[in-house]
Amino acid sequence: MDSEREARLRREAMAWITVRTHDGSRPISREELGDFTFDGAPYRLISTQTGIWKPAGLAAALTIVTKDGSPYADGVGPDGLPRYNWRGQDPQHADNRALRAAMQMQSPLIWLFGVGRAFYQPVYPVYLLREEPEEYRFVVVHEAFREVAPYASPVETELRRYLLRETKQRLHQPLFRATVLRAYEQRCAVCSLGHAQLLDAAHIVADSAEDGQPVVSNGLSLCKIHHAAYDAHILGIRPDLIVEIRTDILAEVDGPMLRYGLQGRHDQPLMSLPRAHTERPDKDRLTVAYAEFRAAPVPRGKR
Ligand SMILES: [Zn+2]
Repeated sequence: MDSEREARLRREAMAWITVRTHDGSRPISREELGDFTFDGAPYRLISTQTGIWKPAGLAAALTIVTKDGSPYADGVGPDGLPRYNWRGQDPQHADNRALRAAMQMQSPLIWLFGVGRAFYQPVYPVYLLREEPEEYRFVVVHEAFREVAPYASPVETELRRYLLRETKQRLHQPLFRATVLRAYEQRCAVCSLGHAQLLDAAHIVADSAEDGQPVVSNGLSLCKIHHAAYDAHILGIRPDLIVEIRTDILAEVDGPMLRYGLQGRHDQPLMSLPRAHTERPDKDRLTVAYAEFRAAPVPRGKR
C-alpha cells in the first residue's frame, strides 16, 4: 500500500470510529472494531493477540491498546506527557518496529483504552514524539498539543503545566467518562435517564490529582440537568445516597421539569448505582460534597 493510500486508510478509520462512538460519547466493543472496511476490504482495528496492531500491508502501527483504562498505565514523563511501552525489551520485535515506523513517519495512531470487558474508549489521533530506548518506551502526544510538545521540559514551566492540563483534558477526561458511564450502565444516578448523549460523568469532589487512574468512586453518572444542578448546589446527595433539593426550589411552582425532575427527586434514593461496591460513590467524598451543598448560600429572599 502506498503512503498516500495508507494515510487515507488512517483518516477513514478515525472518521468511522467517530461515527460508531457517537463522537466519542460511548466506548466501542472489540467485536465492532473488526467491522471496519476500507475500499471494500475488511481491516480489523484491533489485534486479536497483542496491544500493538499493524494490519497487513501497512508500513506502521495503526492502533495501540492500554488494557486498564489509564493513560498513565505506562507512566508519565517529567515533561507531563504519557508513555507507551514497547512490547517486551527487544527493540527489533516486529511490534516495536511497527511503532518506530509510526514515529519516523509521524503516522497518526488510535489509542484504545480498556473500559470493562472487551470495550474500549478510543483517543485519537495521537503521535509518537520520540523513543526512550533505555526505558523501552515511546513518548505519546495528542494531536492537540503536538506543535508545542517537543519544547516540553521537566522543569516547572508554563508549558509543562499546559501539557499536563491538556493531557488530562484529552486523555483522562474521556476515560473517566467512559469508565463511570459503564459502571452506571449508561444511566443517570438521580433519574435513571438512559441516553449516553445526555449523560456526563460528574466528579463528586473536584479532581485535583494530575494523574493516576480515573477513580470511579469519585464519579457519578448524571444527566445534563442533574449534573448542572449538582454543581450549582441545587441538588445534593447525602452520604446515605438520598437526594436532597435546595429548600427554596422545593417551594417554587413551575412546569414538569421542576416538579418531576427536581422536586420529585427530593428525599428519594439514587435510582442507579454500580453493581460493584468498590465503584459506588465514596462515602468520605460524599460527606465533603454534601457539607458544601448545605453550606452553599441560597439566593437572597428565597430562604
Ligand atoms: Zn437525571
